[in-house]
Amino acid sequence: MPASKSNPLSRKWLSRLGFLCVGLAGLAMVFNYAYLSIRHDMELITAKQPNVFEVFYQRARILAPAQLAQFIDQSAIKTPIFSENHSALAYVYGYDYKSRKRFAEIPIMPSLHRTLAAYQYVLSYPEVINLYAIFDDHQLLGMIADNRDLPARLLTTKRALGQRAPWLHYFGCASFPIAHQLCSPDEAQVSDIYTDSFTQQQIITMYFPFDFYDLATRAYRHGLMGIDIAIDAAFKDVLQPYESSNPTRTVITFDAAEPCSPGHLCLSTPLMRTKAGADLYLKWSYSYGSFVQKVVLYSPAFKLYLIALLLLMPTWRHLYSRLYLLAHTDQLTRLPRRDILDQALLQEHDCLMILDIDNFKSINDSYGHGVGDRALTAFAHHLNNSIRSGDTAIRWGGEEFIVLYKGLGNDAEMCRTVARLLAQPIAIPDLPTPITFSAGIIRIRDYLSVADAITLADELLYHVKQRGKHNIAYRQGLEIRLVREPGAPQEAG
Ligand code: GH3
Ligand code: MG
Ligand code: MG
Repeated sequence: MPASKSNPLSRKWLSRLGFLCVGLAGLAMVFNYAYLSIRHDMELITAKQPNVFEVFYQRARILAPAQLAQFIDQSAIKTPIFSENHSALAYVYGYDYKSRKRFAEIPIMPSLHRTLAAYQYVLSYPEVINLYAIFDDHQLLGMIADNRDLPARLLTTKRALGQRAPWLHYFGCASFPIAHQLCSPDEAQVSDIYTDSFTQQQIITMYFPFDFYDLATRAYRHGLMGIDIAIDAAFKDVLQPYESSNPTRTVITFDAAEPCSPGHLCLSTPLMRTKAGADLYLKWSYSYGSFVQKVVLYSPAFKLYLIALLLLMPTWRHLYSRLYLLAHTDQLTRLPRRDILDQALLQEHDCLMILDIDNFKSINDSYGHGVGDRALTAFAHHLNNSIRSGDTAIRWGGEEFIVLYKGLGNDAEMCRTVARLLAQPIAIPDLPTPITFSAGIIRIRDYLSVADAITLADELLYHVKQRGKHNIAYRQGLEIRLVREPGAPQEAG
């Protein structure tokens, strides 16, 4: 008889593969959870953030550019002061926008602190780094907290004012010079994000248009109020939470669709609407490597995953066997189906018995398939209850069953065990007589394949069927023996 080959996808390997799949699925869930929780955090953080542009819009409404112009006009000091004046609260400055010639730089001393109080109030917020008004296409008047960065601000102006987006937005239409009506109903316009060349800070400028009649000059004057807002300070509540969760790149940006760099995970959440209708986004990106590092080092979910994996490892084989059996259970009899019988399962046992219900066809024919089904179920139930926990009962097909026995050391023990099964009557109320079966039992040798074992047991079963049924045959040497010798009295259950 040829030695049996072991199946490459035996249950042991399937069990290992299953464990690997469960492990990988768990890992995928941990990473997915980490990703979703970051997204959730971003949504929570952004939802809590008040609209900075609305806040600045309210603050800027108290500024009266006419007051600033008037202050410069009336101030005695109009020449530049080059000495540092440390006691100044702030500096008011005036420049000719086109020539960039400075015509006033006035320190606001504590004694004058009520002057331009509204400007000082707005400037006192740490996120405001510059506050100014551009008048009549040529005058730049402003206030800053520290005059050291003043020249740098002016150097950045390269384009003519009339060509700049906010100026065009409010004053660029043909109707404006005639009717003095703003070209746009927007209450404020927001610049793109740019880097301030002097402080190297990321800045957004909010522009507010104004237009008034100056009694002193008897002319209409118009211009833009500008507030330079430092992003880091203004959006610290949304940017700071990510500073601790190293290593992140969280940015505030105007374009939602900026492509994610290759090898990166990216998220983008709408943060707030600007006054001119554009959306500002909070964007977050990680390289895959950094993301894995973050999850492994900091995520509680990953720690839980490791603990679960360690706990699952020793119980996995048992759990897998239970799941495997469940997946291979016959619907009618609740016994495992024939496909669970592989070489590994066979070799775990000592004996294999194949059973066939006697005259089952006549049960079906006489009482109907419903009764036949109930007889099958009762038989399977009886079989399962009669075997020990290490033994396995299988529905082999139709009215045939297989039982695999463990721990049957010798033939005498084997005969005693199966004789008990044979002697117990299996009765159901639908049938007038108990159900009987015929069987053949063989000892499992190392060299037996599943097919060979079935063939050998089937031969013995056939032998019983030929000799009056309701018996179990086994081999003793070359001889076939019956568990219950014909004519012998039946054992009581
Ligand atoms: P023997 O004593 O020689 O084994 O005769 P038998 O009538 O039991 O043998 P046979 O193989 O001729 O009949 C088996 C019958 O079992 C045929 C088939 O219709 C019936 N059968 C197979 N599966 C089911 C089932 O799930 N439910 C029912 N009710 N009948 C089944
Ligand atoms: Mg049959
Ligand atoms: Mg039969």
